[in-house]
Amino acid sequence: MGAMDSLNARLKAGEVVIMDGGTGTEIQRRGVPVSRKNWSGLPMTEHPDLIREIHEDYIKAGAEIIIANTFSTGRWMLKEVGLEDRTVEINRLGVKLALEARANAAPDSPVIVAGSMSTYSPWLDPTVIPSYEAALTDYREQSNALAEAGVDLIVVEMLVRTLDTRASVKAAVETGLPVWVGFSVVSEDEKLYLGLHRKHGAEGIREAVDAVASMGVSAMFIMHTSLEDTGPGLQELKGCTSLPIGAYAHSMGFKTEEQNPDEILFGPYTPEGYLEYARGWVEMGAVVIGGCCGTTPEHIRALKEGLPERV
Ligand SMILES: [Zn+2]
Repeated sequence: MGAMDSLNARLKAGEVVIMDGGTGTEIQRRGVPVSRKNWSGLPMTEHPDLIREIHEDYIKAGAEIIIANTFSTGRWMLKEVGLEDRTVEINRLGVKLALEARANAAPDSPVIVAGSMSTYSPWLDPTVIPSYEAALTDYREQSNALAEAGVDLIVVEMLVRTLDTRASVKAAVETGLPVWVGFSVVSEDEKLYLGLHRKHGAEGIREAVDAVASMGVSAMFIMHTSLEDTGPGLQELKGCTSLPIGAYAHSMGFKTEEQNPDEILFGPYTPEGYLEYARGWVEMGAVVIGGCCGTTPEHIRALKEGLPERV
């Protein structure tokens, strides 16, 4: 049985599987400045050893799934730093580093290496609506590069619009790999909307789930979301799908424009504080739990040691 087959069997049986934590923010915490314009591309070409080391530390902390550092290495994001002509090369490099980390840190255990793609609009400006065709073209380029480089799974992250959701999932599913999809949500006026930090439009979880319900996705997540909104998001998601569900939440803030907006503030959640929230998500039925921006290998270790083995 392949590693993905045994993972799927575990999820179906209600076993809790631990994912890694933040990578872009961890690069920053370890001393390499990261631009908000592009979290992954530049550090990947300039500090590959650091990225491999971060993956290895997550595996050692207990992560059973690691996500390659390709969150913002789609052509549309690399364009922000003038690297768009190296899109395929940089995505392949991201996967290579994750595969090397697995070979170094977990040669005998079935750690899954996922490739990441994320939302299409770099600045998440609600007034900018990309064309579906343009998004699909760029997502296909990235998902093919990830698949050819050898990922086991594609995770489409931080979706805040059904348009990107449809285009990214279509491209990812076409590779033939399993696809997991994750929505970012914010609460406003006691309702949940798709969005990051603020609502992006008027779309919600139901619309996002419906947009991809028949496309062959194999798990759905609330991710890149505040800790406070993640639980309510999971409750709503559970009511919309019978697929396995999972979560990873932020533990971070940004400095103000007057300070340095590229620099993030870690916390406020300690590994133990994060674990308390994560216990609640497992009680709601979430079977894949990890950490997002601002979480560290210590957060993942706390999840590994503190969460129940099954829901
Ligand atoms: Zn995040």
